[in-house]
Amino acid sequence: MTQTPPPTPNLRTIYQFKLAQIIDHTPQIRELYCELIGSPAFTFKAGQFVMLHVPVEGGKPALRAFSLASTDENKTGFKLIFKFVESGVASNYVWNLKGDEILQMTGPFGKVFFQEPPTEQIIFLNTGSGISQHFSFLESKMKQYPNLHYKLFFGVRYESDIYYEKELKRLQAHLPHFEYHYVLSRPTESWTGKKGYVQDCLKDLEYKTTPTTFYMCGNGAMIKDVKKQLLEIDGLEKNRVWSEAFD
Ligand SMILES: Cc1cc2nc3c(=O)[nH]c(=O)nc-3n(C[C@H](O)[C@H](O)[C@H](O)COP(=O)(O)OP(=O)(O)OC[C@H]3O[C@@H](n4cnc5c(N)ncnc54)[C@H](O)[C@@H]3O)c2cc1C
Repeated sequence: MTQTPPPTPNLRTIYQFKLAQIIDHTPQIRELYCELIGSPAFTFKAGQFVMLHVPVEGGKPALRAFSLASTDENKTGFKLIFKFVESGVASNYVWNLKGDEILQMTGPFGKVFFQEPPTEQIIFLNTGSGISQHFSFLESKMKQYPNLHYKLFFGVRYESDIYYEKELKRLQAHLPHFEYHYVLSRPTESWTGKKGYVQDCLKDLEYKTTPTTFYMCGNGAMIKDVKKQLLEIDGLEKNRVWSEAFD
């Protein structure tokens, strides 16, 4: 009997995933756990993203990028984190899902990877759903590099936008030098944590003498501001500053 060789995965392969779980962290943040169905195997490296094929009535699917938000050690599934965009094609599709649907995706794409060997200090700055890429870096690398000094600044507007604290605490239990801060641009008066934009936190950080790598993810304006400070004003080397803009 002749055996058909398994199909060779490539970037045009459309993978099928079963929507195994939906978690609504806030009204605007939805997390999906997607489980691979059948072959070929889907492998990725932390930092990469998939293109979700969003069905469009009477037309070709709309393709939207979403960063893989969980460890790259899992070859059978991953999490994605979505931020709702008003009247958005993908947003409306994702917020209408009920569970058990089959999702189609291509990938993995992207060239923002965790730099190895790593520097002593790692600083993550993200906004909105930009935690996705950084959470994948942390979850994928924590066993290999538990003793690095990780600092994560998570920008949202209001207290009610805060999410993922349980997940970050879970990582913190294994990482002796991991601190994370929510930075609120529109907090109430009772908020005692960090206020303003994530980029405002740079001034309180020591990165000019401590070897540091920066990763930014999310809002493009934030990324532009931080890059200007780090690369043009502070003169950091390009290979110490990595970013993924979502807009
Ligand atoms: C490499 C990469 C990775 C990404 N990863 C993620 C991720 O992990 N999670 C995630 O939620 N998003 C991510 N995005 C953004 C995502 O691809 C979509 O752009 C976003 O979800 C909006 O798609 P939509 O179809 O709902 O809106 P669309 O129908 O494309 O847009 C509707 C309207 O909203 C505006 N708009 C589009 N995107 C945004 C935005 N991000 N913020 C505000 N307004 C917007 C458009 O200009 C348009 O007016 C990523 C983008 C890139 C390039």
